[in-house]
Amino acid sequence: MAKRRAKQAAAVVPPPPAGDIAELPKLKREQKIERLRELQARAERELSPHFSDVATRVVFGEGDADAPVMFVGEGPGVEEDRQGRPFVGRSGQFLDKQIKAMGYERAQVFIANVVKLRSAEWDDAEGRAKDRPPTPEEVARGIHFLYEQIEIIRPKAIVALGGPAIKWLLNLEGITKVRGTWQNHRGIPVMPTFHPAYVLRNYTEENRRKVWEDLKKVMAKVK
Ligand code: URA
Repeated sequence: MAKRRAKQAAAVVPPPPAGDIAELPKLKREQKIERLRELQARAERELSPHFSDVATRVVFGEGDADAPVMFVGEGPGVEEDRQGRPFVGRSGQFLDKQIKAMGYERAQVFIANVVKLRSAEWDDAEGRAKDRPPTPEEVARGIHFLYEQIEIIRPKAIVALGGPAIKWLLNLEGITKVRGTWQNHRGIPVMPTFHPAYVLRNYTEENRRKVWEDLKKVMAKVK
C-alpha cells in the first residue's frame, strides 16, 4: 500500500476527527437529511465572506443523505460555480455515465468535493479565469465540511477522484500508484481512482479499463 505522506498537507490542514465513524450513535435517514441541511447552512455562513469574482457560491454537494456510495472530487469549476452543484460540467457528464454503469442514478449516491468554493485565478493573457488547485489554506478553510458530510452520510464506500482528493482526504500522494487499492477514512473504505477530467484528457482504453476495475471493486464492497 502506498504510504507516502503529503507532509505539507499535514502541516496546515486539520486532520479528520479521531475514531471510527461506526462507533458514533446511529442516525436515521430523516436525521441525516436534517443534519446535512444544518451543515449546508453553516457552510454558507462560514464561506460566503470568501466569495469573489470567480467563486460566487458554495457548492456544498448533493445526493442521497443515506447513500451507499459517496464520490469526492477536488473542487467546483466554472460550471459548478454557476449552478451551485458539483460535477455538472464535462467531467460531471462523464462521472454520471460511470455512476449509471455502476447501476445507480445520480440521486442515489452523494457527490461532494474537498473544497466548496471554486479556486481560480484571472489570466490576463487568456482573458478569463482559469481553475487552479486549491491552496492548503483554502482546503483548511473548508475540509471540515467534507469530514462532517462523510460522518453524517456514512457511506459503505467512498470513491476518491484523483490526486487532490487522495491528498486532502487521505494524506497520500501518487494517484497512479494508489488507485485501485483500498484505503480508509475513519473506518470507511475509500477507493482512489482517476479523476474523470484526467480520463477525458487521456482517453485511452487502458485508463477507462483501470477506472472501471476500481469501480467494480466498489460495487462488490457495497452490494
Ligand atoms: N471537478 C471536481 O473535482 N469537482 C467538481 O465538482 C467538478 C469538477
